[in-house]
Amino acid sequence: MEIWCEYAWLGGEAATAGVVIGVEGERIVTVRTGVAKAPEGAVVLPGYTLPGLANAHSHAFQRAFRGKTEVGRGTFWTWREEMYAAAARLDPDNYRALARATFGEMALAGVTCVGEFHYVHHAPDGTPYENPNAMGEAVIAAAREAGIRITLLDACYLHGGIGEEVAEGQRRFSDGTVERWIERVDALADGASRATGSSPAASDQATPSTGPSLSASDAATRPAGSPVSPPDLATRPTVRVGAAIHSVRAVGPAEAAAVAEWANAREVPLHAHVSEQPAENEASQAAYGRTPTELLAEAGALTERFTAIHVTHPTERDRQLLGEAGATCCFCPTTERDLADGIGPAAALRAAGARLAVGSDSQAVIDLFEECRAIELDERLARLERGNQDAATLLAAATADGHRALGWPEAGAIERGKLADLVSLSADSVRLAGIAPDTAAASIVFAATAADVTNVIVGGEFVVRDGHHVTMDVAEELRRSIADLGSAGADR
Ligand SMILES: [Zn+2]
Repeated sequence: MEIWCEYAWLGGEAATAGVVIGVEGERIVTVRTGVAKAPEGAVVLPGYTLPGLANAHSHAFQRAFRGKTEVGRGTFWTWREEMYAAAARLDPDNYRALARATFGEMALAGVTCVGEFHYVHHAPDGTPYENPNAMGEAVIAAAREAGIRITLLDACYLHGGIGEEVAEGQRRFSDGTVERWIERVDALADGASRATGSSPAASDQATPSTGPSLSASDAATRPAGSPVSPPDLATRPTVRVGAAIHSVRAVGPAEAAAVAEWANAREVPLHAHVSEQPAENEASQAAYGRTPTELLAEAGALTERFTAIHVTHPTERDRQLLGEAGATCCFCPTTERDLADGIGPAAALRAAGARLAVGSDSQAVIDLFEECRAIELDERLARLERGNQDAATLLAAATADGHRALGWPEAGAIERGKLADLVSLSADSVRLAGIAPDTAAASIVFAATAADVTNVIVGGEFVVRDGHHVTMDVAEELRRSIADLGSAGADR
């Protein structure tokens, strides 16, 4: 298959005119530039084409209370109570429906890979479901059905605060001990690595409850002598499993070391919420005489596979530790401003050697262009200086660097050998009309919105075409799944 892009961003400040991308299976096999006219039979992508976007930090269920926490006044901690109320209503079926709709919204926003930081593991009273990974597998199935790749970052969450038992609303997050977390996540990761990925755009259209599950496509259950899976399925895995330390509030130092050891042994991504609020730093200092980043460094968590989420209030030493490790710092500015967290020092973290990624986190909005520009625009307000991050760096955060943080180094660039995950933006929208190819990266970062996304391709197949999801009525699924769940504000 050949895809002709009117313009494509291949890195740097400018977009290149007339780019032909040759695709075999789910991979890019050739990239030709300067082709003025679409070759015969080529798929035509008008406007500006970018590599697919990586949403490096997501809590899918939080889409259910978008906007509702803005009613009245509140703090981070009252917001958290609302979040627990929504989490309390989840079960594997309604979670799957809500996550599927949320991932559908992400696909429409150009996201081709999501890092789902998953901690709603058990029944509300903390009892494991019959299948202890029922919730995680529901989220994985949801991403497959929505047509996007997923790295399920299974979060260890054992305490309600430093040295505290989990509270009422947190029971379902906890496995009780880190040993039980390891046992459960071993099963999830082994299942995912055995499972084949379904063809993303072709997954069952209107029957989410019978969609592909991890166990259904488990090669290990195939009788001996039966034919191997068709190559288009076997070679298209869209699921990976990584680990997360929820935070130093929820995981103690020895437990954090055990989670890090698990992730390091498997060489998978490890994420953690880090220094989102000054109160977290103060509690960590009071209990351990160390910052959250210092604790995580001592636990062996800081490697180039580590991603610190937020990093809003790091010390100079923290920045150094993250930079020296080659870690990624994932900023979620639309959530951080919603929660009055503060403005993280993106430029200083990069100067120390860390990379950036972006995430929609609480789903206050799902628009990675907004996340990218907010990193720079917020930092301008904080530092009274322009030009802290250039557009190419910010676009890399949403593409190559974000994918790397999610354990998909083979995605996030329009290059030979990479995955054919692409997103195209209309140049005819009122926001982008008149932009110039020479400065396309800046125009896209500073002016585009999720609404400008017209086409999304994952592994060489359309997931969004002409602004519509190919298998889902996303708005209707959002309405229905949120109504079914009951909103966080409804019982006020
Ligand atoms: Zn988060």
